[in-house]
Order: sequence, then C-alpha cells, then structure tokens
Amino acid sequence: METSLIAPCGMNCGICMAYLRVKNQCHGCWGDNRYKSPSCGKCVIKNCELLKETESMFCYDCRKYPCTRLKQLDKRYRIKYQMSMLENLENIRKVGLGQFINMEDARWMCPDCGGTICVHKGRCLSCN
Ligand code: SF4
Ligand code: SF4
Ligand SMILES: [Zn+2]
Repeated sequence: METSLIAPCGMNCGICMAYLRVKNQCHGCWGDNRYKSPSCGKCVIKNCELLKETESMFCYDCRKYPCTRLKQLDKRYRIKYQMSMLENLENIRKVGLGQFINMEDARWMCPDCGGTICVHKGRCLSCN
C-alpha cells in the first residue's frame, strides 16, 4: 500500500473494491476520475474548500473537524463495514502516514495468500 492511496477523509483506497478489481480499476481518491464510483467522483469532502486551506490535506487539520459530512461517512462505514475513517485520521495524526500504512498493511493482509482483504466485500479478492 502507498501513502498516495490515503484519502483526505481517512479512507484507504487500497482496500476499496473499485481499486482492487481487475477491470476498470479506480486509481484512488487522488487519481483521475475515470473509474471512480459516482459518489467519489463528485465527493464533497475531497472537493471541500476548507480542505485546501489545510497543510496536510487531511480533514484532521481542518478547523471544522470533524464536520457533519465526515461524521456521517464515518458512521456509515462503521456500521456497514466495521471500519472508521475518524479512527484512521486519528492514527495518521498520532503515528504519521508512513507508520499508518504499515498498520494498514498488517490489518488488511490476507493470512492465506498475502493478498488484500477488501473492506467492502469482507474477504480477500485474490483467494476468496
Ligand atoms: S472508488 Fe472512491 S474509495 Fe474507492 S478507490 Fe476509488 S476513490 Fe477510493
Ligand atoms: S473536516 Fe473540514 S476539510 Fe474535511 S470535509 Fe469537513 S469541512 Fe471539509
Ligand atoms: Zn487471500
């Protein structure tokens, strides 16, 4: 996993179904919009005016953090996928992006084949 795959909201695009699929692979939040999901293509968080004012380009640096939008996204992911963007952001702030990537590598690595477990499917897309 690479640091460029971590979105401003704390999402790790490296574990997203759209990134992990074989065909029409999304290039992540910071990549072009070609194969993004429609909601990510017009994402209000990535395109937030306040985000541009931050030094880190992460929401934790924003004066409105955590805003309602971010909290809603976080709630949806916690309930549906047992993953928290806010927890990710707090970890990035605490340990730095490089160490966070190491944590993510360990967290989402398939114990059977070393592939990546997809947060949306809840299973490894390499060996199922
Ligand atoms: S669809 Fe959205 S969350 Fe998934 S990899 Fe693309 S930008 Fe990231
Ligand atoms: S936390 Fe700040 S930068 Fe992030 S979406 Fe909310 S208002 Fe925008
Ligand atoms: Zn596997």
